[in-house]
Amino acid sequence: MTETIASTLTLNNGVAIPQLGFGVYQIPNDTVDGALQDAFAAGYRHIDTAAIYGNETGVGAGIARSGLPREELFVTTKLWNDKQGHDSTLKAFDRSLRQLGLDAIDLYLIHWPCPARGLFVETWKAMEELLAAGKIRAIGVSNFRVQDLETLLAETEVVPAVNQIELHPYLQQEELRAFHAEHGIATEAWSPLGRGAVLDDPVIARIAAAHGKSPAQVMIRWHLQLGNSVIPKSSTPARIAENADVFGFSLPDAEMAEIAALDRGLRTGPDPSTFGN
Ligand code: NDP
Repeated sequence: MTETIASTLTLNNGVAIPQLGFGVYQIPNDTVDGALQDAFAAGYRHIDTAAIYGNETGVGAGIARSGLPREELFVTTKLWNDKQGHDSTLKAFDRSLRQLGLDAIDLYLIHWPCPARGLFVETWKAMEELLAAGKIRAIGVSNFRVQDLETLLAETEVVPAVNQIELHPYLQQEELRAFHAEHGIATEAWSPLGRGAVLDDPVIARIAAAHGKSPAQVMIRWHLQLGNSVIPKSSTPARIAENADVFGFSLPDAEMAEIAALDRGLRTGPDPSTFGN
């Protein structure tokens, strides 16, 4: 079948996730509804938000206003750091569900491991209960390091469906991607454009010019070809559409290799070893 914006990856529990999603970090609660209508018009059906983004009610309003059937949409939200722990997770989940106006969440993630707090195993067990109760279709983590994943795998039942991590051409996360592949965990790329930091790279610019595409489109294409789920954010209608128009071309192996060579271990976001501890 031809690859389109509706193309999905199958998670380790059989749930299908549209490979390309729309990230809404830093889109204010009162404007996210409009951004979502632009995204839906461009074909996105997968939305990535989080309790800490403060826009779950706006996302819920946008979903309701779209009139799209619920089963066509894939909605991810995340548990914030100060809500880790068994009971506080159950409570925070209920609040997210209410704010979004939904009966169930497609994917619920622990936002950061906060390893020094030592609470993510207990948190995960609460998420396993919500999964068993049918309130979540898949559970996953975000910003987990290999050692955090190893702890979860050793001490809990459900293997995370997803680890959402900072990933772009300047931070390629080879070790984590290999670990994910070995354990059936899907890799989801946040800041897939490096929050703009990689958009001016001359190699990306040359490849983009050769295809008559933009640097952002080349980077999203690179993620898709690596097999990542990818959730670029934009508040600009033309860019929202541009970032969805990535299915009519492909990068040959030589260009994939050129982009692989750009890795420089550059984080644009916090370090998961220390953040939130
Ligand atoms: P991105 O890599 O998606 O970059 C977003 C920036 O790039 C914005 O400034 C946007 O500008 C600009 N941009 C988008 N498209 C284009 C384009 N075609 N051409 C030029 N510039 C463009 O960064 P984010 O950090 O927002 O990451 C994406 C999503 O990942 C978030 O929205 C969130 O859902 C998730 N995330 C998860 C985290 C986690 O800890 N789990 C952490 C951070 C993000 P403009 O909007 O003005 O168009």
